[in-house]
Amino acid sequence: MSERASADEAATLEGLIQGWDGMAVVTRFDAESGSWVFVALHDDTLGRPTGGTRLKPYASPAEGLRDAMRLAAGMTEKWAVAGVPFGGGKAVIAVPGPVEGEARKELLHRYGALVESLGGTFGTGEDLGTTPEDMAEVARATRHVLGGHGGGGLLLDPGPFTARGVLAAMRASLARAFGSDDPAGRRVAVQGVGDVGAPLARLLAAAGAELVLADTDGGRLDALAGELSAQTAAPDEIAAIACDVYAPCAIGATVNQASIPRLACRIVCGSANNQLAEDADADRLHRAGILYAPDYVANAGGAIAFGRLAADASAGRDDLYARVDAIRGILDEVFAEAAERDESPLHAARRRVERTLAEGRRRRGASRR
Ligand code: NAD
Repeated sequence: MSERASADEAATLEGLIQGWDGMAVVTRFDAESGSWVFVALHDDTLGRPTGGTRLKPYASPAEGLRDAMRLAAGMTEKWAVAGVPFGGGKAVIAVPGPVEGEARKELLHRYGALVESLGGTFGTGEDLGTTPEDMAEVARATRHVLGGHGGGGLLLDPGPFTARGVLAAMRASLARAFGSDDPAGRRVAVQGVGDVGAPLARLLAAAGAELVLADTDGGRLDALAGELSAQTAAPDEIAAIACDVYAPCAIGATVNQASIPRLACRIVCGSANNQLAEDADADRLHRAGILYAPDYVANAGGAIAFGRLAADASAGRDDLYARVDAIRGILDEVFAEAAERDESPLHAARRRVERTLAEGRRRRGASRR
């Protein structure tokens, strides 16, 4: 790297850290693999910062840090709105390219040792680019991996819990938009039929919804469409399908200034993180008469189940389901507050987060006195 490029990079990392409203960023360069590791601790008002570990290549270390910070802030909102006593945090391992086999295991052990050295101030689990097997490797070096990986067996696959939470969010949305929460006969366009989209499609089919499915993986798409007798659409057409609910369950930013005029749905409710390209898109949806279920509320089911198991490892499936299903009531309240003010539900959800954090700060202050 030239001196100039390296100075620019440092300035960017510096600038990002200076401009962040979070608590701290733990940074490490893993020389053996050429990876940058960032643990972003955003907020500990409600509990210890907790969030997944993302492992992927980035265009630059600064892009990795930016992602860790953005995702950590998102976790603060997700835990707060769901009422789970955790704070916002996220880790990024910005690898230079594919890292496999023994080299991957060793990288994960070193990362685990870094997490352990934080003395329990950060708890983590899997995320994009990490698997349950990866987290079992991390758990060899730290006690702070959630989800039952530490004992050697995986207790929880978050996908079906997230899907169940999206269904609860969809019921709240249908009730608000149509006066009935029954998915029967409603046309739902699901973009992405992976860990969340597939179980969601199965739940919807069982509830009598009419499905249109899309996925860039044609084999996966055809298998599920065959199983559920569902229609299919091309990945670049699914967002514009005429339907009652558009459920983005693949990538972020599919709802944006360019796509909103093409949406032909009454509701946007899915699992994808960062569904909106920018916050202004929430207002654009509101003006277009499309009800938006804020993504971090609708997709909190897996996080809620993890949080419950972290508090009580013996919690049974029915207990987890009941807590995930509570997303319905949370969104009912968010929608009601938004309707009263004639605003996007995104604003009402944000205020709910702020209220929860303010209450947490008050309680913490009181317990210190
Ligand atoms: P996944 O990788 O298992 O599934 C994503 C699916 O989308 C894959 O089948 C993939 O082929 C498909 N896909 C990718 N690009 C696409 C495109 N442009 N159009 C159509 N299909 C496309 O991921 P997942 O775990 O199901 O997560 C889906 C989304 O939900 C992600 O945004 C994720 O961050 C978010 N999310 C997941 C969870 C969880 O519990 N897994 C929790 C919260 C949020």
